[in-house]
Amino acid sequence: MNLKNSKFYKRIQELRHFSKEKIRKDREQRGLPVPVLRGVEMALSECHCKREVEMEWPCISPGHREHTPRKKMAGIKEKKKSHGAARSKGGQGMHFRAVKLVNPEDEVDAEGFIQLNNVRYRVSCPSKGEVPRKGDGPSISDSKSAICVSNSRYAMIGRISKSLGFKLVKESKLWNILWSDSFPGVELFKNMKRFQQINHFPGMIEICRKDLLSRNLNRMLKLYPHDYKIFPKTWMLPADYGDAMNYALNHKRTFILKPDSGAQGRGIWLTNDLKTIGANERLICQTYIHRPLLIDGYKFDLRVYTLITSVDPLRIYVYNEGLARFATNKYVEPTPNNANDLYMHLTNYSVNKRNSQYDLCDNDDCGSKRKLSAINNWMRRHNYDVAEFWSNVDDVIIKTVLSAWPVLKHNYHACFPGHDTIQACFEILGFDILVDWKLKPYILEVNHSPSFHTNEQVDREVKRPLIKDTLTLVSTVLADKKQIMREDRKRVKQRLLKTKGETPIRQRSVVPPVKPSAANEPPTAPEPEQEEGLLAHQIAWEESHLGNFRKIMPPDDATRCSYYCKFYSQTNQVSIFAETAASKKREDLARKMRLQIEEKRAKQEQMLLQAKTKRKRIIQPRIVREKQRIQQYRLKENWTPGFISDAEERLRNTWQHMRNESIKNLKITENIYSVLFEFGHLSNTDISVFPNMYHNLQCGLDIRGST
Ligand code: ADP
Repeated sequence: MNLKNSKFYKRIQELRHFSKEKIRKDREQRGLPVPVLRGVEMALSECHCKREVEMEWPCISPGHREHTPRKKMAGIKEKKKSHGAARSKGGQGMHFRAVKLVNPEDEVDAEGFIQLNNVRYRVSCPSKGEVPRKGDGPSISDSKSAICVSNSRYAMIGRISKSLGFKLVKESKLWNILWSDSFPGVELFKNMKRFQQINHFPGMIEICRKDLLSRNLNRMLKLYPHDYKIFPKTWMLPADYGDAMNYALNHKRTFILKPDSGAQGRGIWLTNDLKTIGANERLICQTYIHRPLLIDGYKFDLRVYTLITSVDPLRIYVYNEGLARFATNKYVEPTPNNANDLYMHLTNYSVNKRNSQYDLCDNDDCGSKRKLSAINNWMRRHNYDVAEFWSNVDDVIIKTVLSAWPVLKHNYHACFPGHDTIQACFEILGFDILVDWKLKPYILEVNHSPSFHTNEQVDREVKRPLIKDTLTLVSTVLADKKQIMREDRKRVKQRLLKTKGETPIRQRSVVPPVKPSAANEPPTAPEPEQEEGLLAHQIAWEESHLGNFRKIMPPDDATRCSYYCKFYSQTNQVSIFAETAASKKREDLARKMRLQIEEKRAKQEQMLLQAKTKRKRIIQPRIVREKQRIQQYRLKENWTPGFISDAEERLRNTWQHMRNESIKNLKITENIYSVLFEFGHLSNTDISVFPNMYHNLQCGLDIRGST
């Protein structure tokens, strides 16, 4: 069935169109820029030109907008090759046509048209010489880096990579960066070349799955009870069932229950009665934060984008822009009556988009999805200390990553022993943070593949620059594919020829160390020892290409730096693999289950055996059964005494008499008795039966002659 022809699909398209039109008219009435103009802004923001330029949009085709507002805007990329119409695939059917062919080297302003949703705009762009460049070092396009995005469902990543000068290649080619939505297998990690990078760290699952995150944070809470109050009290059921019940008995709280590896709000519910939960259900049970910070009466959570560029030494950056996702029903503290209202208690976009109250408004201070900058403005207006709040958020992020640090470090070195030029991995993590009424942030979840869907304007405004800044920050240009491959070939050759006195292979000449600019925080904090050579190059590159990122690890402040040092030593205090009470209980449970299964199996085997023997008996051939029957009958016959006649009895007596006589004549008895007497073996019975013989024996007479 073709879905596009279905009534359902058409209806959705109609509704979409309807809501867009509604927003456009509404904004026009209020004198705000209509979304289509925002679209132009976005299209321009993906281009190279950063300088503010004058842009005009006279309506060319009749029937379109009469007034021609003048607006300051980002410029537009020059089209180098197109003489006629050139179509861009991205953004609302954008259609750009260059009116004048411009040589990229020419220092002239370019003009062109941009067409969006059947409206054409004339735009101008400053000449190349005026375009601000990032630093004086080489750019990504100079390095001819290749990126593979075929394992990602987000077309935006490919588009942005292209605009940055990356070449899009297949996975089978020699890519520099592989961008994948899911965790790749270990095989891929193992086979990576020294110039290749991937957008996931092996072992990051330790904080990206709810149950593992809870386990790690609980372990750290035990070690550092004052520092790790960064998440709501959490129990992993069924292992912690007893503890949770105990807590529930002593505290009157509402609990939130989540599937241990769920996402997008699926399977979540609230309760204040834990007895309703089955003792064997696998769930994450958390105390519900019942007094969250509210904006306009709605609960919300923050999606904070965090970039990790290295785990040893640990380097973490946080993006200054992000999203706040709002619930769509006004918040009331949980009661049995409203506990089922997911639109009130959950802030997931996937849940709330189904509510008719979902607000698509893309103004900064309205809508069910807003930018972090809008939240910051709201906080400032309400006299909250924004800087302190973000410092607390950074603290939560650092501590969460540190809880899995030993595993991350171990896995990285195990997977990439040869990656000595650049870091083999980087990762954008989506931290979900809930803020309570005291402005205390709590970590709820970490996403290893945060959504890069751009359904709404606000998504585009946040996610596009995020991807762009990430790719710029991680492509250090140190990863010189050709040079590294040359070196590898040389190494193989040397190994084959067993050359002694190896010439030093590693002589990097690609980029001079770029000094961090004044705007990009001077590294005042003490850096790790290895920060020499290549690592120093990489760090310098990162810090001079921060974009909208801020560095949070290592912190610039020396006291904070030493504060975090103690968490690195967690492995010395307790092994990450050491047993916790929960793990012990889990093991016990597993052992019990194993025993039960074994018992069951043994029973089944026994039953099977019995059934087999029964079947065997039944199967025996008829002849054998007949023989057995006759034998049994005979046995029975032998035991019943038969008839004895008088003649037979007389004959038997005669034989008995004759036997006794012959024994007497042959003196058999005497002989035996004299021997028995000699060895002292005569019994009382013998003596009483043959008293004379005994007397003679005692008198020393020869009994053989006496009788
Ligand atoms: P999922 O991965 O399914 O989205 P989350 O842990 O992110 O699960 O929870 C979904 C939503 O439930 C969050 O966005 C938040 O609004 C709400 N929530 C989760 N845990 C708590 C909690 N302990 N207290 C209050 N609200 C919570």
